[in-house]
Parts: sequence; structure tokens; C-alpha cells
Amino acid sequence: MELQERLNEVRSRIAEAEAGIKRPAGSVQLVAVSKTFDADAIRPAIAAGQRVFGENRVQESQGKWPELKSETAGIELHLIGPLQSNKAEDAVALFDVIETVDREKIARALADEMKRQGKTVRLYVQVNTGLEPQKAGIAPGDTAAFVDLCRKELGLAIEGLMCIPPAEENPGPHFALLAKLAKACGLTKLSMGMSGDYETAIAFGATSVRVGSAIFGAR
Ligand SMILES: *Cc1c(COP(=O)(O)O)cnc(C)c1O
Repeated sequence: MELQERLNEVRSRIAEAEAGIKRPAGSVQLVAVSKTFDADAIRPAIAAGQRVFGENRVQESQGKWPELKSETAGIELHLIGPLQSNKAEDAVALFDVIETVDREKIARALADEMKRQGKTVRLYVQVNTGLEPQKAGIAPGDTAAFVDLCRKELGLAIEGLMCIPPAEENPGPHFALLAKLAKACGLTKLSMGMSGDYETAIAFGATSVRVGSAIFGAR
């Protein structure tokens, strides 16, 4: 199958999931996760009208996205992988949305960089809903206090929450937990759902889904 067909398939499944819970068509944002794919593999997605992309590494992204962004207006690039504070400068310069704010040190580094560069990057807080030791993210129980610190102490406008449920578990309860935490923080944006579970995530209130292999193929 060609990329265009796979992209269309994902788009129509998103539309069906939106309709299934009576959400307006087009209300769920598709973040096409292009990590590990080079610029030539990504261009067909851009040609097919996709404008929102996700990458998990700053350095890898620097090797392809400045060029791709210069070729096409309106690209929106999301960082969906862990961020080290020594990469905050580069991340703020390249990305439009950073979905993986997960500790005070990184929040501070981002606040400082945005001020220095005079650029606003939209931010999500990553929540480790499964409390997995190897996974990044704020513990569910610490989320409200962390969002509060970002807002009040650092002056950061947090846009929403993001999670990656444990691979072997039913994702539904994790999506429900993220939705509940967001509501408690007065946040309306939820980044959740990947190739295997994005329709479930939409049913639980995802406002954006991060879909990689279902669009670009196996990595
Ligand atoms: C790779 C990745 C995705 C996309 O995963 P697929 O299963 O290929 O859709 C989504 N979110 C994050 C954080 C990722 O690292």
C-alpha cells in the first residue's frame, strides 16, 4: 500500500471515531509520527496535505525538518520524545509544540529559552499513567501540582496532557485517567493514542492522536 492510501485510511478511521462519539468532524488532530524516516519518505505525506508531524529526537529532527519546513508553509512540528535540558535551546528553535514536559528542570529551561528566543512553543505535560520506572512523565498524583508550578512560578501556559500507556495493558483506563487529570487541571487538550489504539483514545476524549507506523509503515 502507498503512503497516501495508508494516510487516507487513518484519516477516515479518525472521522468514524469522531462521528461515533458525536464530535465535530476534524476536531481530532492527527500528528503523523515520522521518526526514523528521512525527508524523502516524509515528502509524500506533506504532498498529501499532512501538516502536523511528530518526532522523538531533537538531533534527528534537525537533520530534516529545517529543510522540509522551508519547502512548505504551515508545518507544525511536535516533539514527542524525552527532552534533555541541554537540548532546550535547539528544541525551542525547531519545534512548535513540545509534548514531553515532565520535570521542573526542563520546564525552567524551556521558560528561559522561550524568553531568550522571543518564541512561544505550545507545551504539554507528559504523565506516566502506568508509573513505569523506565518511562518518562510526571506521576498521576503529582500532575496537578506540577501544572500549577509551571503556570504560577514559571509563567508557562500549559496546553494539555500527554501519555503513553504501558504496551501490554488495555489502554482504556490510562486514557480515562489522563482525561480525568486534565479536567482537574482545567486543561482541554489530550494527546493520546498511537497506531494500535488511536480510535480507543478518541472514544476517551483524545484531541490529538500520534500515529506513526500506520502511516509510514514499520520502523
Ligand atoms: C513512536 C511514537 C508514536 C507512534 O507510534 P506508532 O505505534 O508507530 O503509531 C506515538 N507516540 C510516541 C511518544 C512515540 O514515540
